[in-house]
Amino acid sequence: MSAIRIDGNVLAKTIRGEIAAGVAALVAKGQRPPGLATVLVGEDPASTVYVRNKRKACEQAGMVSIHHALPAVTSQAELLALIGDLNLDPAVNGILVQLPLPKQIDDGEIIRAINPLKDVDAFHPENVGLLAAGHPRFLPCTPHGAQQMLVRSGITTAGKHVVVIGRSNIVGKPMALIMMQKPSAAFPQAGDATVTLVHRGTRDLPGITSQADILIAAVGVPRFVTPDMVKPGAAVIDVGINSVDGKLVGDVHEDVAQVAGALSPVPGGVGPMTITMLLQNTLLAATICGS
Ligand code: NAD
Repeated sequence: MSAIRIDGNVLAKTIRGEIAAGVAALVAKGQRPPGLATVLVGEDPASTVYVRNKRKACEQAGMVSIHHALPAVTSQAELLALIGDLNLDPAVNGILVQLPLPKQIDDGEIIRAINPLKDVDAFHPENVGLLAAGHPRFLPCTPHGAQQMLVRSGITTAGKHVVVIGRSNIVGKPMALIMMQKPSAAFPQAGDATVTLVHRGTRDLPGITSQADILIAAVGVPRFVTPDMVKPGAAVIDVGINSVDGKLVGDVHEDVAQVAGALSPVPGGVGPMTITMLLQNTLLAATICGS
């Protein structure tokens, strides 16, 4: 078997077109274009590239990108002061503080300082709680992107066994929440799946992953998922981004394509979808604020 390729670049292009149309509709109603403020502290090369890509995508969708580059020695108080200003700025609909932050900064306090209505990463405890309660305001970008790859590829999740590998606050945990929730008016695309979340402390992890109808890998270990861990015909979403000898590889071994029914590639899979969902949240934030 050779798996169907779930192409994140193609899906992201379609959704970004829909978002650009949504932005144009807001502007046609007399509203200012949505504004996304990005905050980068220091000069970490990977973070610099991520922020550059987010800003470019934002402008391509007709939104306004407002960038703040701060030195690596920035203090907690200085960063909190900037967030306070952005919270009050009516031209800023979304605030994205690029993680990781330098050691002297408590990232939990920074995330909690962002106005939850501008928290387009959906990391603020209020937004985490709303998702856990089944009434999400914003969905976190990476798991939302992974879910959209399934939805838009016609891979239904209702009643399926979804296994998520990884329990981080950014990917694994919200991924499991999105997949397990009951669909409702507040959350029509909730997964309605039977979810198992496995992690570093799980016994017989391959025995569990090989029962998955849909397997989502967010491990951070290159080529962690091997063909023997996958049920023939399963859909596999590879969230991982790892650099091996200068090459980007996922958390799923390339040979899984011989067993899986569908597989997302790395690069060109979840990555472009993550940025797209950030744009969607920024448009949603501007729609909620309505000015
Ligand atoms: P993390 O390190 O915070 O979490 C990894 C999780 O995997 C942990 O919960 C851990 O328990 C589990 N794990 C690690 N090693 C394991 C093992 N040997 N056996 C079982 N479980 C194990 O990472 P994260 O932030 O969740 O990111 C995961 C991957 O996704 C990384 O490769 C990261 O670069 C990538 N990522 C991609 C995007 C994107 O846009 N595509 C966004 C965020 C993260």
